[in-house]
Amino acid sequence: MRIAGYPIPVTCSYCSSDVIYTSNAVIYGKEYGNGRVYKCTGCDAYVGVHTGTDIPLGRLANKELRQLKKQCHTLFDPAWKGKKVRRRQAYSILAYKLSIPVNECHFGWFDKDLLLKANEILKQPNWYKGEIV
Ligand SMILES: [Zn+2]
Repeated sequence: MRIAGYPIPVTCSYCSSDVIYTSNAVIYGKEYGNGRVYKCTGCDAYVGVHTGTDIPLGRLANKELRQLKKQCHTLFDPAWKGKKVRRRQAYSILAYKLSIPVNECHFGWFDKDLLLKANEILKQPNWYKGEIV
């Protein structure tokens, strides 16, 4: 599988402190999953990596962003997990409704505005039944 790359964070987008690549035990108390994370040295923002790589899963996320991302997944995932729509198609429909390219349609990449917009779309019942022209 080809992993879509997101730029490696160097400076925190929230507090401008340095970002370090470290063990995620600094977040969870012990190593969890693939064990690696990019972590801001100045605030609680962090992001995990794709297993076996140093490629971040998305942008550095603070608590607010992590919360919004979680809300999106809670609304989005049941559509494809419940086999109402194929996963790929679900992303295509969401991308279309957000007016973004489908290869940029990853919740981990979204900024706050886009997450809020996605939340509004995903709150609509049967949002995945949208027509794609
Ligand atoms: Zn920070």
